[in-house]
Amino acid sequence: MRPIQMVDLKQQYLAIKEQVDAAVLDVLNSSAFINGKPVQELAADLSSYLGVKHTIPCANGTDALQIAMMALNLQPGDEVITPSFTYIATTEVVALLRLKPVFVEVDPKTFCIDPAAIRKAITPKTKAIVPVHLYGHAANMEEIMKIAQEHNLYVIEDNAQAIGADYTYSDGTSKKTGAIGTIGCTSFFPSKNLGCYGDGGAIFTNDDVLADQLRMVANHGQKVRYYHEVVGCNSRLDTVQAAILLIKLKKLDDYIAARRKAADYYDAAFANHPHITVPYRAPYSNHVFHQYTLTLDGYKNVAEVRNGLNAWLAEQHIPSMIYYPVPAHRQNMFASFGGNDFKLEITDWLTDRVISLPMHTELEEEQLQHITSKVLEYLNKQ
Ligand SMILES: *Cc1c(COP(=O)(O)O)cnc(C)c1O
Repeated sequence: MRPIQMVDLKQQYLAIKEQVDAAVLDVLNSSAFINGKPVQELAADLSSYLGVKHTIPCANGTDALQIAMMALNLQPGDEVITPSFTYIATTEVVALLRLKPVFVEVDPKTFCIDPAAIRKAITPKTKAIVPVHLYGHAANMEEIMKIAQEHNLYVIEDNAQAIGADYTYSDGTSKKTGAIGTIGCTSFFPSKNLGCYGDGGAIFTNDDVLADQLRMVANHGQKVRYYHEVVGCNSRLDTVQAAILLIKLKKLDDYIAARRKAADYYDAAFANHPHITVPYRAPYSNHVFHQYTLTLDGYKNVAEVRNGLNAWLAEQHIPSMIYYPVPAHRQNMFASFGGNDFKLEITDWLTDRVISLPMHTELEEEQLQHITSKVLEYLNKQ
């Protein structure tokens, strides 16, 4: 059996090595390292894949979120509603721009922002909502867009973990996540579902004016070279990364299918276990399984059991991860933003209970069998 990894980037690369090597060499030969043709091609391909009018490539997913908030001209003190149960980047950029992060609860089933909690958190200062499609499951976008419309708020989707996911509306129509809000943001960090071989990100919008603004902010605030209209930043996707992503985007649906197959295996192995809840799949979202995350419950000291499982699996050479061990509102980073004033019981409850198992496109049945049997072996001893 191949060693088990949380994400097996090497194995995935080997399957497309010839194509990728040739594409990278092409870029080297062209020497168009910045803004080469593959960058524009990728933007066009992403727009048609997501069904969105504009794609603005940038340097990483964190920049994508920051540029989105800058382009919307959010001002210090403006309130931005975000989940606390997320990767730090989502909330960090809010603080970086001196906006006020307003942390709200997630739905414990989907791990995504709870629309009812958003409603309660809205004040006259609220300007934007940042739903995160966590672990690859879409947030309840129909409800979120309705709230945004009622209160005239921007919606910035953090789609870093869910590119390729579909959101289905109650009327049966569907859209790709990242193409629903005012702006969508994603990351091409190597371990993401659509990952490059370094850093990368992209921003999506259907709004022509906003697209110009996003491009300007990402490019030192200029539309015409050396004439800087606003304070911007420098955030570009390298041509080499775009060339790699062009190849991998064509495989994204296959990659998602492979992840879903692994998830189905896990689901079946853990079904009906009294202490394990497998990832929920809401009718409005397919799940692209960036992570496969279990919720443990019913143990006297559940955090201890969860941490014990994590450590014991490591001894068996099976990696597992706690995403995330400290929710945003409890991070020291946010102490001066009043993070500790937020009482988020569901977020804390989940933080003690979640554990993510290896999830990638190259998992083999033998590996899955081994992982699941070891998880069950440990839990059945508790
Ligand atoms: C990875 C990730 C980001 C940031 O992406 P980078 O490319 O690493 O900057 C933002 N939000 C979420 C939810 C992520 O998982």
